[in-house]
Amino acid sequence: MRIDVVSIFPDYLSPLQLSLVGKARDAGLLDLRVHDLRDWTTDRHRTVDDTPVGGGAGMVMRPDVWASALDDVLQDGAHLLIPTPSGEPLTQRNAEALATESQLVVACGRYEGIDARVAEHYRARGVRVTEFSIGDYVLNGGEVAALVVVEAVGRLLPGVVGNPHSLVEESHGAAGLLEYPVYTKPPAWAGLEVPEVLMSGHHARIERWRRDQALARTAARRPDMLAALDVGTLDKHDLATLADLGWRVVDGALTRD
Ligand code: SAM
Repeated sequence: MRIDVVSIFPDYLSPLQLSLVGKARDAGLLDLRVHDLRDWTTDRHRTVDDTPVGGGAGMVMRPDVWASALDDVLQDGAHLLIPTPSGEPLTQRNAEALATESQLVVACGRYEGIDARVAEHYRARGVRVTEFSIGDYVLNGGEVAALVVVEAVGRLLPGVVGNPHSLVEESHGAAGLLEYPVYTKPPAWAGLEVPEVLMSGHHARIERWRRDQALARTAARRPDMLAALDVGTLDKHDLATLADLGWRVVDGALTRD
């Protein structure tokens, strides 16, 4: 897969040389290219922004400069991603879908954002454009969101995570639950013991304990996820655990008592 990130602060993306994403680049699994938007400016001051039409605070990024950059960078079939706090939330499902693309181009906004005509223009030209948000807060620029999307998508590419099984039981996976708590050695530390069942060697008991922990953790931290769960994925024991936690199936959906 190829991912292009366009930003006025290309150095902000330098962590993408590190860790699993850095290794994936070195191994040729991910072709990641970072571009400086100012390379497409034509004036002496390398201007990328101007005042908002209609008035108001701050500056807006110019569509002509963005289009010069994007026309050069977008390949046939590319998916253009525009981070913005007003976009649709980025989820694991979106990351899974994006991991099947041939090219992603991330256009990092700054100031008050990118002139709205950029998204409109590329949609009209048949480019798939997704305006996405990484959470309900406002950052200074889209670079952190670009790092997030590269991390989330990059680790799903074949060969990037050494043991693909570690992707299966994770939070926000197919089970629709948060992951259970994890432990390593030593078995006793700071007066805290690893749960005895995990040292029993009894695989079925361990699996059941982990599932119950995942249900309890999701109920406590993300009741919205339980409410959205496909009840057809729950077995009798799950339903009993959930009943103890105060959740029941009503009209085909989990509901809190
Ligand atoms: N005026 C914009 C608004 O209120 O929606 C906020 C602009 S923000 C200061 C500048 C840039 O940061 C945005 O263009 C976007 O690229 C990025 N950004 C800020 N918060 C973000 C978020 N939650 N998710 C994704 N990108 C974000």
